Amino acid sequence: MKVYHIVYEPTFKYVTIHTWTDCNLSCHGCYCQYEILDFGLIDDWAARVANAAPASPPNRFLTLDAVMGRLDGLDIEGAVFIGTEPSLDPELPALAEALHRRFACYNILMTNGVKLTDMKHIDEVIFSLKAISDDIYRDYTGRSNNKTLENFRAVHSSGKKLQAECLLIPGYIDAAEVENVARFIAGVDRDIPLRIDGYFSLNGHPWPAATISDVGKAAQLAKKHLSKVNYLTGDMKRIGDKAVKIF
Ligand code: SF4
Repeated sequence: MKVYHIVYEPTFKYVTIHTWTDCNLSCHGCYCQYEILDFGLIDDWAARVANAAPASPPNRFLTLDAVMGRLDGLDIEGAVFIGTEPSLDPELPALAEALHRRFACYNILMTNGVKLTDMKHIDEVIFSLKAISDDIYRDYTGRSNNKTLENFRAVHSSGKKLQAECLLIPGYIDAAEVENVARFIAGVDRDIPLRIDGYFSLNGHPWPAATISDVGKAAQLAKKHLSKVNYLTGDMKRIGDKAVKIF
């Protein structure tokens, strides 16, 4: 498998399984290029990525059996697959199935939505929409958002539980673009939840970190279109106990 890192959140009984794949996007604000450990392990995450040099990619990976072995003895109610892009790991569907069988847990896939995988054992999909204006999306990721938007609609039509997220980057992907994202989602279903992530500034990039106030204003615009909007920024306090590294 492409699994290189696993953490466990004891407060929530969730395991986060990180894959490292050749991502099909090249986002300017890709945190994985600066820190490959889960942010739940790091107290000063925002400061870390603001000052870090680009990180080396992981060089140790687990087989599916080894992943399941590492999870032995844990009380797991949910699993989150996160990346670089987890859908590009061909063994992800088998891992999701193995987790369902062993733990009957709630499986959540976080994806950029460019390429869909077998979702039979995925209970919920969180799509990172990034931007709706194709020029902004192309500039930020290096390709068109046509496929992602088409796949977002397809997953919704399939009846799978669905959420969306987007990133507010002051001076780049701003509140007006977040409102465009909300408008697009509302055109599919206004009850799909949207989470707005505030950008953490990255070493060598010109954009400042988004503050709670920045993200709150963007959320107000998004709420004009959607029934469920929440947000996350680097200056918000952690909820629950610190994550534990399993691998
Ligand atoms: S989709 Fe995610 S993993 Fe891929 S480049 Fe963008 S931020 Fe990085």
